[in-house]
Amino acid sequence: MNKTDQLRNLPAVDEVLRSDALSDLRECCPHHRLVGWVRDALERVRQTMRDGGEVDLSALPDSIAAHVRQAATVEQQQSLQTVINATGVLLHTNLGRAPLAQAAIDRMLRAAAYSNVELDLRSGQRSGRGARVLKLLAELTGAESALVVNNCAGATMLVLQAIAGGREVIISRGQLVEIGGGFRLPEVFTAAGAVLREVGTTNRTYLRDYEQALNDQTGAIIRVHHSNFQQSGFVEEPTIKELAGIRRPSTIPVVDDLGSGCIRDLSAYGVSEPTVTESVGAGAELTLFSGDKLFGGPQCGIIVGRQSWIRQLRESPMMRALRVDKVTLAGLEATTEIHLSEGRLDELPLFKMLGRKSESVRDTCVSVRQQIAGVSSARIEVVPCESRIGGGTLPGATLSSYALKITGCKTSELSRSLRLGTPAVQSRAADDGLLLDLRTVAPSEVDLLVSQLRRALAQGSGV
Ligand SMILES: *Cc1c(COP(=O)(O)O)cnc(C)c1O
Repeated sequence: MNKTDQLRNLPAVDEVLRSDALSDLRECCPHHRLVGWVRDALERVRQTMRDGGEVDLSALPDSIAAHVRQAATVEQQQSLQTVINATGVLLHTNLGRAPLAQAAIDRMLRAAAYSNVELDLRSGQRSGRGARVLKLLAELTGAESALVVNNCAGATMLVLQAIAGGREVIISRGQLVEIGGGFRLPEVFTAAGAVLREVGTTNRTYLRDYEQALNDQTGAIIRVHHSNFQQSGFVEEPTIKELAGIRRPSTIPVVDDLGSGCIRDLSAYGVSEPTVTESVGAGAELTLFSGDKLFGGPQCGIIVGRQSWIRQLRESPMMRALRVDKVTLAGLEATTEIHLSEGRLDELPLFKMLGRKSESVRDTCVSVRQQIAGVSSARIEVVPCESRIGGGTLPGATLSSYALKITGCKTSELSRSLRLGTPAVQSRAADDGLLLDLRTVAPSEVDLLVSQLRRALAQGSGV
């Protein structure tokens, strides 16, 4: 058969779709997707023929089925699923930041069907959305009132737009930061319709710089916490208490964008961050922070502060676009309850990981090493390492920890094989091998980790 005949003899898409080789996929995959995959496979065959390659037409149904099966597997791997975090980064943005407390997960499940998110069960009347969690957040932080939006970036947008839209917002040049993922404050100001009024210099801004910038166009003063970078040396900036003490009309609030959302003093964990309560106590009219950083809850932005300002935010048209769903509110409610009772703090996986002694991590490493020894010729050691907090918080802080270090095999293949297992395991690349820092692996996940490691090592990523 010449090339043109061969090409003409290729089966039609419909014919392939009806073949026995695809019978199981026909049941589980949407039709339009199967059609696309079959088309791709046929196109590849055509290309091979045009390039002068040999194609065995009798084996075509099977090879096309294999291609489609591969495409279906790749698709499946992209669905959201559990990942065991062996990176040692506690708040890993790519892995969804804070892992939630079991109580929060349970409450989210409970609220996921119909729930009383805007219904007062006693009166039968409509209630404020998530009224109880807002009350708890105010109680926890010592603020008059609270509001929850989609994330802290959303909170910043809402505040700038609803309170200072069209007017000037005074900010230190040392705080015009990029938060990450392209979220740059000057651009947020523009998008929110607020006018940036920069004062001071990169390294030094004084109280008088703010005072001198005040005028009848001023809409707010904002302080943005240095959550993801450090400044040292010849530096100065006023405290939030000093900013709140500036003599100014009552129409100009001081806003504190804290980001990290530290609720109480974490110095026992070697973490030093300004707390939300300090900010509220120092007189900031509005304090903003993330729900999924040091607060250890679901993704959201929490705004606490004076009742009159919170009311203005709540009534803004933007609020409707930024509100969170019932499942988030439920998880936040349960997380806030944990913060309210000091004895329960250990229920937050984040705090458990922060507080875990390095010797305990080492013991787990030793035990895992024993269970995976001899599976392959790779070299496996237990080595000291540093865990990080991550998530755009505490850039300088590290926790001493231990890791399994795997060398003497194709470590990039091993890490890929671990990522593609069920459950997936995310490890960390080191200069000369692969590291699995077990501080961020929950005790309940250790057995699963062992079986994934045994599988991936046995599959042969040998040199
Ligand atoms: C992290 C952070 C934000 C953004 O918070 P998201 O919840 O991720 O939107 C804003 N401001 C500061 C100071 C931050 O640290």
